[in-house]
Amino acid sequence: MILSGATVVTSLDPVRVTEADLHVVAGRVADSGGGARRDCSGCLVVPGNVCGHTHLYSALARGMPYDLAPPQDFLQILQRIWWRLDRALDEGAVRASALVGGMEALLSGTTTLVDHHASPNAIDGSLDVLEEALRSLGVRSVLCYETSDRDGPERARAGLAENRRFAARVRTETPPLARSLIGAHASFTLGDETLAACADAARALATGLHVHAAEDAVDERDARALHGRRVAERLAEAGALDDRTLLAHGVHLDDDEIAIVGEAGAWVAHNARSNMNNAIGRARIGALGRRVALGTDGIGADMFEESRTAYFRLREDDPGAGADWPLERLAQGASLAASVFDEPALGTLHVGAPADLVVLDYAAPAPLDERSFSGHWVFGLSSRAVRDVMVAGEWVVLDRRLTRVDERELAAAARVAAARLWERMDGIGAHDFEPKGGRR
Ligand SMILES: [Zn+2]
Repeated sequence: MILSGATVVTSLDPVRVTEADLHVVAGRVADSGGGARRDCSGCLVVPGNVCGHTHLYSALARGMPYDLAPPQDFLQILQRIWWRLDRALDEGAVRASALVGGMEALLSGTTTLVDHHASPNAIDGSLDVLEEALRSLGVRSVLCYETSDRDGPERARAGLAENRRFAARVRTETPPLARSLIGAHASFTLGDETLAACADAARALATGLHVHAAEDAVDERDARALHGRRVAERLAEAGALDDRTLLAHGVHLDDDEIAIVGEAGAWVAHNARSNMNNAIGRARIGALGRRVALGTDGIGADMFEESRTAYFRLREDDPGAGADWPLERLAQGASLAASVFDEPALGTLHVGAPADLVVLDYAAPAPLDERSFSGHWVFGLSSRAVRDVMVAGEWVVLDRRLTRVDERELAAAARVAAARLWERMDGIGAHDFEPKGGRR
């Protein structure tokens, strides 16, 4: 394949722009060769976006009715919404959410999803269901199951077993588009035994832990009350914090914890829109350092929108933050995927990189070059411009349509699955799990 006539952004951090044809051979960017030519005149070609933290099951929650008393805090949001929804998920709902969530990801220019999955009444095999659904669309994925003690010891064991099983499968079969992490919910729903078992599994399988950390103050209060230490200290002592660990949110990490996370070299996934939506506070972006990627936490997978909103939220506190910030964060998400896939060039369009890319139909209204590209990203570009998407050298979106499935059929099936899911949720009350340390 030869993509001709485009302005090609070969790297987001630092921004590198060239005007040369882009050659794709055997799934990778090449310096020559390639057969069929795709006219990309007047277009921008950029690396595919990576969503560093999401929950695909959220795709079926859009517009969901809510009849309980309005939640007053983050814990009640979990007890009354998400921990009801996850218990209502069955295999069909998991599949439908992955298909429709993966579809929306590709159409918005996101080629890799780092998912954190929970379905306490359909645990065994759930990661295979996600993997198969995403592979059928051509989405690259990093999957894990959310191990937690909140639904009892049996489900905690089953959750960890699902992580181990899938991680072992990925290690031996190496499905080309999927990799695994060991998933765990958060300190406040993990007893010492379960946390230690998760850390052991990650070590034994040579992978990282993907865990919510200090998302809300409730996580810190529980860690102090029950374990006499803060969340990051607890994770570090359990052997659950190293340079493969992915911490979601990190909003309430204090200075000492940020130092611990930094020394470990762990990744942090910042989810600006979710943080705002759940009123949990502001992540200390400046202090968190370089290894911060961006995630949506289940609010779709549009990284143009997420990166732009995160940037404006940051600018509200720090008008000195440069427009390169969103691109640096997206590049860190790509580095995270690159390390999990052991593909150092993933997230760039350098020669040899896996060909994960997006063709944007964008008529720049002002000069576009290496210095100005970040301004175009923040103030002009959006997923509206996504025309074509390639993952691992295969076209998965062409002319704004998925190449492999009928989008309308897929969305119609998801609506049926969502309606059934909502019905099942009617019969499930607020979760009764209560952390230690008090509500506020
Ligand atoms: Zn999350």
